[in-house]
Amino acid sequence: MSFSSLVQDLALRDPDAPRRRGDASASTMDDRASQFSVAKSYASTAATSVSISGDIGSQLHAGYSHPLARSWQAERQLTKSMLIYPLFISDQDDEEVPIPSLPNQCRRGLNRLIPFLEPLVRKGLRSVILFGVPMQPGTKDALGSSADDPNGPVIRSIRLLRQRFPHLYIVCDVCLCEYTSHGHCGILREDGSLNNQLSVDRISDVAVAYARAGAHCVAPSDMNDGRIRAIKLKLIEAGLVHNVTLMSYAAKFSGCLYGPFRDAAGSAPSFGDRRCYQLPPGGRGLARRAIVRDINEGADIIMVKPAGQYLDIIADAKELGRDLPIAAYQVSGEFAMIHAAAKAGVFDLKSMAFESTESILRAGATIIISYFVPEFLDWLDS
Ligand SMILES: [Zn+2]
Repeated sequence: MSFSSLVQDLALRDPDAPRRRGDASASTMDDRASQFSVAKSYASTAATSVSISGDIGSQLHAGYSHPLARSWQAERQLTKSMLIYPLFISDQDDEEVPIPSLPNQCRRGLNRLIPFLEPLVRKGLRSVILFGVPMQPGTKDALGSSADDPNGPVIRSIRLLRQRFPHLYIVCDVCLCEYTSHGHCGILREDGSLNNQLSVDRISDVAVAYARAGAHCVAPSDMNDGRIRAIKLKLIEAGLVHNVTLMSYAAKFSGCLYGPFRDAAGSAPSFGDRRCYQLPPGGRGLARRAIVRDINEGADIIMVKPAGQYLDIIADAKELGRDLPIAAYQVSGEFAMIHAAAKAGVFDLKSMAFESTESILRAGATIIISYFVPEFLDWLDS
């Protein structure tokens, strides 16, 4: 509709117009000019009221027209101190082997660790999470005995990293699946199911061994019932509870997104799957119960894993654990999918890396474990 026809249309719809027209005994040029001017001013008022829909609060663009103002719209903005970088540490000291299903990630031996980490620490890397990968034949058994071997990759790495990077915060994943011959996350009964009591006993011993070696944080990922309480009690007994953080993988869901990780850590189960101890993808209520339980058992940080597909669970964790930091693990499958889609031209890698982590922060996380950490250390500077 053109402006002049809008004016005419509004003049005809003006309820006062007939009265005004009636007041004029004769239709003169002056009358027509005056009617046009009334209609024109009415139209300009009407056009303004149309654009604000009668409510001044409908005007939102001003709040995010500038890039800085856009960043102020987020409750939390990504910073380097929120990031934890996962490291796969092999028992082959000189090894540095790329993991084909996990772009740009390698399995490294102890001798490769410092040269790799030095530039990252210089750029502001604050924290790593360690996963041990025993490659030597004969190291795996039914009890996962090598998990806390003082000469194993994790304990030796903790000591080395504490010594070389005194400001680096060291988290240790605590599980048995990398070290058991059957690849499950605990000790098994004869029927192949997890023996919860024996598993909790063993897992908590491993956690304390990592804490004694100097880990700042132990993070049990095994999902055995009651392991948070058991670890907390053993940390108290060992006199370490005051300075070792206990981060619970409270809501860890089973599913397809761990494939590249299992390639990296060599932790695929030799039979069956983990659906009897990791949470079913639809199990929101179960996740809420696990979060509440682990908070009550003494967890200092609650983790949700995977992240992108479980933003509602991150929001639940933030609601249930509003006084705790919430961590989210953007797992190997999420990372690999983003890489694959970027490679296929679906979107730009960096843009999606930011978008995915901003969503995780928006949902309520304050800590992000991600394979994008080396890139973020550069991107956050630019
Ligand atoms: Zn495990």
